[in-house]
Amino acid sequence: MRPFQFVRAKSLNDALTERANPSDHFIAGGTNLVDLFKYDVERPVKLVDINRLPLGEIRELHGGGLRLGSLVTNAETAYDARVKERYPILSSAILSGASAQLRNAATNGGNLNQRTRCYYFYNVASPCNKREPHSGCGAIGGVNRVNGILGMSAACIATHPSDMCVALAVLNVQVQVSGRDGDRVIPIGEYHRLPEDEPWRDNTLRPGELVTAIDLPAQGFADHYTYLKLRDRQSYAFALVSVAVVMRMEAGLIKEARVALGGVAPKPWRIPAAETALEGESPSRDVFIRFADALIDGAVGHGGNDFKIPLARRAIVRACHQAAAGTPQSQSDKRIA
Ligand SMILES: Cc1cc2nc3c(=O)[nH]c(=O)nc-3n(C[C@H](O)[C@H](O)[C@H](O)COP(=O)(O)OP(=O)(O)OC[C@H]3O[C@@H](n4cnc5c(N)ncnc54)[C@H](O)[C@@H]3O)c2cc1C
Ligand code: SF4
Repeated sequence: MRPFQFVRAKSLNDALTERANPSDHFIAGGTNLVDLFKYDVERPVKLVDINRLPLGEIRELHGGGLRLGSLVTNAETAYDARVKERYPILSSAILSGASAQLRNAATNGGNLNQRTRCYYFYNVASPCNKREPHSGCGAIGGVNRVNGILGMSAACIATHPSDMCVALAVLNVQVQVSGRDGDRVIPIGEYHRLPEDEPWRDNTLRPGELVTAIDLPAQGFADHYTYLKLRDRQSYAFALVSVAVVMRMEAGLIKEARVALGGVAPKPWRIPAAETALEGESPSRDVFIRFADALIDGAVGHGGNDFKIPLARRAIVRACHQAAAGTPQSQSDKRIA
């Protein structure tokens, strides 16, 4: 047991002031952070509990969007009537993840900031550049079944494990953050970062910044969407490959499409130029295979995860068909037709 200081923040200002050092942590639901302490991956010096901050509401935005407070739980978000009706892909993605108990505790801010599930990251006896800068990477040349195939670097091949974030990526949400230097907004596509030669930096938050909310734009794509998640077990398992697709259809043609992959990259993986090529097309196997090839162009396996390349290709094609047809993947009846 390592002794640490525990502070309960009473206001946003209080939280930002209390978390003064890089070794300090905000704690929300604790479902990831406490595990990191138990595995000795993170060694807390000071914990700043943010659960008393007024960030636990979902409210309407002018112009038709919704603001999800960062302390709203994953369960509250997924079951909110407005989210279910207007952003069903977000409900679906959240409900595909973790377990009911975890979703009751996990918060939206914590989900955005959860750490990778790379086995070596959690094993302090192994080298890991993400945990211990410049120590090496155990997964390259090691057991890398869960690791990534896109956006990797020679320093790290970890993936971002969130389901929620893959749906947020296709909804083009904006992340509201506050820091001691003021507030700013980060588009979701710029929130998580590629490892390059600094894999210890998962995202573009500046030191001490707190996520206060996630803004959903008005367009929710409630008619044509799907979240398809493939994994080793049909529940309580992280994605090996997942695909979020939203489409706008007119007279049987694709007017707009957005597609993001989970489980394969350090961030939800999108290629906007490939999405544009779908516009005006009639949904067909050939069109979606061409699109899948463009989306996974440049994918590289590392031995244990080579299977993810053909799996991702097939999953993209299936998910595009599901979205175009308006027959989304069910997260309660998880059979894949
Ligand atoms: C057994 C198990 C299975 C799981 N399966 C899945 C799954 O299938 N799919 C999936 O997507 N997830 C899964 N998860 C992960 C789960 O979704 C995350 O643990 C959860 O979302 C984290 O939220 P939290 O509030 O508990 O975060 P915490 O554990 O409190 O915090 C996580 C990190 O976020 C930071 N943080 C928290 N709030 C903020 C904020 N507002 N601003 C800035 N930083 C913040 C913390 O400092 C910490 O670094 C699983 C977890 C477990 C334990
Ligand atoms: S892939 Fe990344 S997280 Fe995994 S061992 Fe290598 S450096 Fe660490």
